[in-house]
Amino acid sequence: MVPKNPPHRSFDGKARQGHRDRETEGEHMAAAREERGDKKLVLIVEDERDLAELLEYNLKGNGYRTAVAHTGPDGLSKARALTPDLVLLDLMLPDLPGTEVARQIRADANVAHVPIIMLTAKADEVDQVVGLTVGADDYVTKPFSIKVLMARVEAVFRRSGRSSTDGDRVLRLGGVALDLETHEATLEGEATPFTLTEFRLLSALIEADGKVLSRSALMNHAMGPGVTVTERTIDVHITSIRRKMGDWGKHIKTVRGVGYRAVQELAPA
Ligand code: CA
Repeated sequence: MVPKNPPHRSFDGKARQGHRDRETEGEHMAAAREERGDKKLVLIVEDERDLAELLEYNLKGNGYRTAVAHTGPDGLSKARALTPDLVLLDLMLPDLPGTEVARQIRADANVAHVPIIMLTAKADEVDQVVGLTVGADDYVTKPFSIKVLMARVEAVFRRSGRSSTDGDRVLRLGGVALDLETHEATLEGEATPFTLTEFRLLSALIEADGKVLSRSALMNHAMGPGVTVTERTIDVHITSIRRKMGDWGKHIKTVRGVGYRAVQELAPA
């Protein structure tokens, strides 16, 4: 199933970004939260209407609420207006590519924390999609089985659910603080937009307290058991975490042939 895109018509999502009315947006968010019951809201951004319907049908069957957008700009504005609990984001979209939608979600403090699962066509797009340039939490490659996708969706919610039962604890590494209760990350007091996966990876490293974690151990922490990603994917996430940590990124050490560890003290040069 190779995604087909209609001709590129316009690229207006970016132009609109600077002119958003923050107050109106805040009201939208509050209203959206009020409407929200216990059911998680999944935003499906997919231009193949048959696939979007299939996803909607299956998500509803699994107890989720859904919203659907068929274009990039519509996906972005629905993400901002509804603050969903998860975005399923197609890579190839009309008007604004999925990568750009993801990037703009990550750049918007109100929705930067929302997990994103990318629906990609080719395996070689994965490096670009995960972590570094886009900040997706996970991906599935088209064509995918609905069963596999549902497992990934549940894995994302298991991860975010687990952190809320961790209690009132803050993990620190240098200038970075991770609040396990609110899931907020700060760098020297300023909010830092780690993705959910990055948050889980970094908290696992800090909790290991200097011990080395293998890539497969990190995978388990970040993705939950039973979800397999390539080791390269972990490396890409770690690179992204280091970049977001600025100078403090040096506190995450690569242990060649094994994995990674986080150190509180840097050895003197
Ligand atoms: Ca598409």
